[in-house]
Amino acid sequence: MFIDEVKLHVKGGRGGDGVTAFLRQPYEPKGPPDGGDGGHGGSVVLEASGDVATLLDFHHRPHRAADRGRHGQGDRRRGADGKDERLLVPVGTVVKDALGAVLTDLAAEGATCVAASGGRGGRGNASLRTRTRRAPRFHELGEPGQERWLVLELKLLADVALVGFPNVGKSSLIARLSAARPKIADYPFTTLSPNLGVVAHDEETFVVADVPGLVPGAAEGRGLGRDFLRHIERASVLVHVLDCASYEQRDPREDLAALVAELRAYQDATELAGWAPLLDRPALVLLNKADADAETAEIVLPDLRNEGWEVIVGSVVTGQGMQQLRTRMADLVRLGRSRRTDAAPAAHRRVLRPVPAHQDFSVERTPGGFQVVGERIDRWVVMTDLSNDEGVAYLQSRLARGGVERALVLAGARLGDTIELGGYAFDFAPEPDDLEAVEPDSEPTAASSEPDTDHGEDR
Ligand code: GDP
Ligand code: MG
Repeated sequence: MFIDEVKLHVKGGRGGDGVTAFLRQPYEPKGPPDGGDGGHGGSVVLEASGDVATLLDFHHRPHRAADRGRHGQGDRRRGADGKDERLLVPVGTVVKDALGAVLTDLAAEGATCVAASGGRGGRGNASLRTRTRRAPRFHELGEPGQERWLVLELKLLADVALVGFPNVGKSSLIARLSAARPKIADYPFTTLSPNLGVVAHDEETFVVADVPGLVPGAAEGRGLGRDFLRHIERASVLVHVLDCASYEQRDPREDLAALVAELRAYQDATELAGWAPLLDRPALVLLNKADADAETAEIVLPDLRNEGWEVIVGSVVTGQGMQQLRTRMADLVRLGRSRRTDAAPAAHRRVLRPVPAHQDFSVERTPGGFQVVGERIDRWVVMTDLSNDEGVAYLQSRLARGGVERALVLAGARLGDTIELGGYAFDFAPEPDDLEAVEPDSEPTAASSEPDTDHGEDR
């Protein structure tokens, strides 16, 4: 199996900021808070689609990002959500993280996965209002979108197989036609690896492979031909490549007859369950190297056509006939695809989001104090406007409710210790309850401990 592999960088859109605003009413200096929430950032979503055949697009554009969310506005107006960036990938694409762990296998038409989720919109001060905090003068900032490298892998099936003896120009042809040369992984032969190219024609892309081990007798297991033949079993189109330039030693007509005999021997010896016999598939003949020997091409052309072959006279070196060849390959590939009857399995949606564990953070000792590590905690910090005292106090009450202060006390943190958290350093000033719960004898501290009855979801 050929495996194409591409590295893809995905980035979700940033959430919009909330806003701090107050309703203006006649005869009242300051009305109730009415700052709206920011919109959520868009996500980058991968979707398996039968309309795309290769990962070519990602070789060309490996960085993809979704839209940001808009900021909230006064009058409780919520910012618009950013649009998702939907990326179509071929059915059968396997998604891995940068370390190679499989995240999902988009095996069915319509299957999706969230490659990078958008950041949440920050809450405006209207949403942050509680019974005890009636006029918050702060808002949350939007959360940055998730950002990461992924590896997409696709098992490639060759759509077009180049069949021909050594030195007729197969490798050169692939190099000439290809828009990309996929990296081939997991191939058992190191010295003689199959040649593969992705060809783009109009909207269509297709995979062309050659069979470098094909020599007379390959079907009986001589050389490596048999193994390579197995790789073209599913190619819907065959292109026989013949060499006009060595007429002295070899007649292209005889070469073609030998190729056909080889394919027939293989076909007879192999069970091709569900696939059309090799020789029943649409086929083209390329009379190559016409630049070197136009005469031979002219001599053999009528004979081949009389036998019923569709023949293109050309030269990989000068480019003669190449446009015609590409167009005819694309036509036949399209025909083959439209005939393919495999019914697409039912679509299913798979969403990959980090699930918060019971305690999804950890406390570690550092030379200067303590460090709190956890994605959700980092998000709280990054969504806080640290220049706003009320915002900072709100962050602290969140940390207390989320069990962070308790965990710090349990780890031995004391008033005034330096706590690293979300990329910032804070002085430890826990709420009295948290200290008492662990050290009943200790004195309640003077830490700011604004009572908070906000039972809003701590996202
Ligand atoms: P393969 O063994 O079938 O893969 O053949 P290669 O692509 O390696 O080509 C064999 C030799 O033929 C190379 O030296 C090529 O440069 C040469 N060749 C390929 N195509 C043409 C052509 O159209 N005209 C001429 N004159 N030489 C060609
Ligand atoms: Mg070659």
